[in-house]
Amino acid sequence: MPNSSKAYLLAKAAAGERLYFNEGLQLYHEASLIELGMAANAARQIRVPGRIVTYLVDRNINYTNICNVNCLFCGFSRPAGHPDGFVVSREELSAKIDELVAWGGTRVLIQGGNHPDLPLSWYVDILRWMRETYPTIELDCFSPTEISNIAKVSGLNTYETLKILQSAGLQGLPGGGAEILDDEIRHRHSPKKQKTDDWLHVMREAQELDLNTSATMVVGFDESYEHRMRHLQRLRDLQDYSLREHGNGFIAFISWTLQHSQVTSLGRSKHHDKYGATPHEYLRHAALCRLFLDNILHHQASWVTQGPKVAQVSLEFGLDDFGSTMLEENVVSVVAHQSHTRMTEAEIHALVRGAGYIPAKRDTNYNLLKVYDDPNEILPPPPPKYHLRDVDATIKAKVEILSPHHN
Ligand code: SF4
Repeated sequence: MPNSSKAYLLAKAAAGERLYFNEGLQLYHEASLIELGMAANAARQIRVPGRIVTYLVDRNINYTNICNVNCLFCGFSRPAGHPDGFVVSREELSAKIDELVAWGGTRVLIQGGNHPDLPLSWYVDILRWMRETYPTIELDCFSPTEISNIAKVSGLNTYETLKILQSAGLQGLPGGGAEILDDEIRHRHSPKKQKTDDWLHVMREAQELDLNTSATMVVGFDESYEHRMRHLQRLRDLQDYSLREHGNGFIAFISWTLQHSQVTSLGRSKHHDKYGATPHEYLRHAALCRLFLDNILHHQASWVTQGPKVAQVSLEFGLDDFGSTMLEENVVSVVAHQSHTRMTEAEIHALVRGAGYIPAKRDTNYNLLKVYDDPNEILPPPPPKYHLRDVDATIKAKVEILSPHHN
């Protein structure tokens, strides 16, 4: 394919037209931060017109840190039998979701390590219990990596596993575990982790079953632009397929940058300078993703990894959603030593308004629940943090399996 001019490609992408792989790659190499941002904002206005920036009131819950995958970038997991290993108790889960309900939340996002022993019945039990106890809370649980692990532990295939979990109350899958969907890169940092095709396969099955799904990406593994483009091409191809075959694909895309520090193998590596990415690179990447992933409607900012201010700036780079309140975060924060793991609606409003946009609370499917178009509206303060038990102490101390029965 002949090389087109950068100006032609930027205009083509800004007009909402599809970029070929080589065209996206060329823009990645040649376009500046501002050029990509302006084109991405134009494309955003075609696909999600207007000044509204949405956000979700939800809670992130990690049900276990026990994992046998040993990703080199992970500072969260512990091997089975480790004294710091935990599996969340139902009491703790209940307290966490109660707090979310007090915040007016609508979703829990539940993820954990690849636990080598938890049976399928454990996952079924907590889903059924959450479905019955919190009927208005959407349950998006277990990334494709975990689904494959649950299937393996239970002696089922992933489709059967998804169907059983869906019958118990599962409504969606988080997009975790994708990192870079290219086995050359995955082999370097996570040789024991689910491969690219398997991640895509589980998502394809979930979309066929009409579950909600989101797509993610982590940059900063010393990957090339070609590796990143292959990730985006694979997501776009799957999205084309699923929308055509089932009318149900990824509802949103979110990317962030690898965090590393002394608590991870990558951070301790003598090559650690190669890892991670600057805010400049994050913003260029986020804009390029908006341009290339023309079939994924919503693109989220990542305040957890970028910090609130870069997330605010990213709204000028094609992103239309501020993510969520989270209420807790235990995976990135342990590596990046961040204490800011929740954001109130008032904080989100201030950041969104400060960038010149209108905040709007949404549900998981991006239905608008409330548009805050009156800048003088004062939000009530969030409820106090629950003190049933100190969460950090729980994480260190509790190893409590809800159901000992294997399927
Ligand atoms: S990133 Fe996930 S899969 Fe990898 S070691 Fe950590 S918990 Fe396990």
